[in-house]
Amino acid sequence: MSLPSLDDLEDLGGARVLARLDLNVPVRDGVVLDDTRIIAALPTLRWLRERVDEVAACSHLGKAKGVPDPAFSLHPVAAVLEQALGVPVRFIPDCLDPAAVESESGSVVLLENLRFHPGEKANDTHFAERLAAPYSHYVNDAFGTAHRAHASVVAVPQLYPSGRKAAGFLVEREVAALGRVAGAPEQPFVAVVGGAKVSTKTAPLQTLVENVSSLLIGGGMANTFLLAQGYEVGRSLVEEEMLDTARAVLESAAERGIDLELPEDVVVADAITEPQRVEVVSSRAVPAELMIVDIGPRTCARFARVLAAARTVFWNGPMGVFEVEDFAAGTLAVAEALAISSAFTVVGGGESVMAIRRAGVMDSIGHVSTGGGASLEFITGKPLPGIVALEN
Ligand code: ADP
Ligand code: MG
Repeated sequence: MSLPSLDDLEDLGGARVLARLDLNVPVRDGVVLDDTRIIAALPTLRWLRERVDEVAACSHLGKAKGVPDPAFSLHPVAAVLEQALGVPVRFIPDCLDPAAVESESGSVVLLENLRFHPGEKANDTHFAERLAAPYSHYVNDAFGTAHRAHASVVAVPQLYPSGRKAAGFLVEREVAALGRVAGAPEQPFVAVVGGAKVSTKTAPLQTLVENVSSLLIGGGMANTFLLAQGYEVGRSLVEEEMLDTARAVLESAAERGIDLELPEDVVVADAITEPQRVEVVSSRAVPAELMIVDIGPRTCARFARVLAAARTVFWNGPMGVFEVEDFAAGTLAVAEALAISSAFTVVGGGESVMAIRRAGVMDSIGHVSTGGGASLEFITGKPLPGIVALEN
């Protein structure tokens, strides 16, 4: 099994290529707030444009529910992509619209959000066949979605024989860099995990504790773990259904003698927007009427000390609601600790990468992954469905 790269593609003369990209960028009021993923997709798009007849870029955006929803339209992305690529990008308002292929030679089109059709998340074969029908070749450069068995990353590539499908540069680079962490990482290997998508991130932690010397948990993730340990977390974000998994992770860390650290102090507030009360309290004494919004200063210092001794670091998920300036200190402290570290550092996740940018330390990170859940699963050694579907 080996991952086919762009150079392995055959018969590219006159080819029409469906390029599954990760253009799931944050959009508010029709404005793209962060173009990291768009920029990351450019090398593959440029390579294709120079060699094939037509490139149809496709992606999902946000939590669209299988029906068209203007809030999750990729339309604002088309303009940013066009600007970045320097060639016209025609927007197709339905990914199954046959008008997508009525283009001129050398053109680039962007298909509307794949998740406007229920078949995408359902990994539906019929949807995949309709999506793939106009295209002779398939390229996957959407590493951030590789851990999900959705039609555009699994059922679609299964329709193409070898020589007609490949990983883009981004997926290739991700697999190489994350492989350094997934295999036998140089120890001490420290993982920092936070963020809000607790349900998708807790299970991989169980495998991760087998590899790390320290596991530092912050952000919304820590709340569920604190609750699992029997501490009250007030009105904090928690995922009750993940409590058992959190307990299992705590147990296996204890059994293995892994240093699993939760925040000793936290920043609490009565609201995210326009809070009247903001306090630093012990994580063992969170007032019932408040919610945890960041790790506290003692925890920042503690995490920084552990990170300073690391030889390999993996970070996914902000330490707090860093979008709000008052609650960003913990996330920025971790970003800073990684920036000054001499370890091989890997950061993954949409919001984590945004935080790295905001901290201005992008260039001091070993590998900035565009995948969050995908990079976490990959470094635990789990085969990603989107990668498997490309292999011959
Ligand atoms: P990533 O995109 O890096 O994988 P996630 O998507 O899992 O990270 O989570 C990012 C979000 O988590 C951020 O928008 C941040 O506001 C939120 N978050 C972090 N800590 C908390 C917390 N204590 N309570 C609520 N939300 C939090
Ligand atoms: Mg995210």
